[in-house]
Amino acid sequence: MNTRIAEFLRARRVEGRDDGPCMVLDLNIVRQNYDTFAKALPDTRVFYAVKANPAPEVLDLLARLGSCFDTASVVEIEQVLATGCSPDRVSFGNTIKKERDIARAFALGIRLFAVDCEAEVEKIARAAPGSKVFCRILCDGAGAEWPLSRKFGCVPEMAGAVLEHAHRLGLVAYGVSFHVGSQQRNPRMWDGALKASAAIFRDLAEKGVHLQMVNLGGGFPTKYLKDVPAVRNYGQTIFRSLRKHFGNRIPETIIEPGRGMVGNAGVIEAEVVLISKMSADDTVKWVYLDIGKFNGLAETMDEMIRYPIRTPFDGDELEPCVLAGPTCDSVDVLYEKEPYMLPVSLEIGARVLIEGTGAYTTTYSAVGFNGFPPLKSYVI
Ligand SMILES: *Cc1c(COP(=O)(O)O)cnc(C)c1O
Repeated sequence: MNTRIAEFLRARRVEGRDDGPCMVLDLNIVRQNYDTFAKALPDTRVFYAVKANPAPEVLDLLARLGSCFDTASVVEIEQVLATGCSPDRVSFGNTIKKERDIARAFALGIRLFAVDCEAEVEKIARAAPGSKVFCRILCDGAGAEWPLSRKFGCVPEMAGAVLEHAHRLGLVAYGVSFHVGSQQRNPRMWDGALKASAAIFRDLAEKGVHLQMVNLGGGFPTKYLKDVPAVRNYGQTIFRSLRKHFGNRIPETIIEPGRGMVGNAGVIEAEVVLISKMSADDTVKWVYLDIGKFNGLAETMDEMIRYPIRTPFDGDELEPCVLAGPTCDSVDVLYEKEPYMLPVSLEIGARVLIEGTGAYTTTYSAVGFNGFPPLKSYVI
């Protein structure tokens, strides 16, 4: 357990401020993660995916360390610019943008945009003339625990036409992007998308359009219950694929880590509200926490992300439990299809620590469903 976070939580309890669940994020770990990415992919620029955790302290730190930022909305762009970071370090990476938001981003100085179809290219040509665009290609997301693939991107065969259209309309056809799926535990999953990207580069070069950049996206995992390969391993495997498909003409590359940058820096403290059985001969207990799908743990949807949970009774005998949140909505169940093993001795009122919760928790929390306040967040 992270001793800085443990000490913070202890002080919070001593001072009687421990009412309700909270997420505590250690900036030292974010700094280490940034350094690890910079070392593992030394010729690649880091564009932190702001949506993973837009806490001002996180953005300030990353801006100071030299990171660039991948944003999805005008509000995220403004949050990044509030750090003092210049707009040439920011991409508008959402492929689904209102034309007036593109215009506002352009007015704020943003010149790098994602597209995945000709209609989006036309909006950018009108609202952000002369900007650089990269085209997102579909990626099947196999091997990822949280899919980010199906909704965005065009088939690689269409990307050439989209980028050519951009070129014709006076934009800079800058490159290709993809996302191999979030929490991608297989570093070899970048290979297929890099192969497709290299083919797009070659096709367009024949038509006199010279792409420069491959955006390798996010997908770098956080360790939850299962082990994950080291970032170094991702760096080496991706570099080998770049070599294989681009030869000695390796393009400029960027990565967009979100989860891998902040996931392991955060811990949620929650409380056991109730432990019960639904019938005398029930084989599983129900354990209800004061946090659930609606106040921070949305990524337990379909039981996709399984967080490590520590209790004061670790080491005791375990039994299978259904783990649920506190709201009066029956979808607010975290783990049921595959029950969660918890100590037999776990008690009502016990505090539990949910690890690896620095990414995709605070902002996934409802503003007050059922009167439960949004997840509190502290950055230390
Ligand atoms: C969400 C997102 C990311 C971050 O993905 P992680 O798996 O959290 O690293 C990166 N790029 C884009 C375009 C995204 O939408």
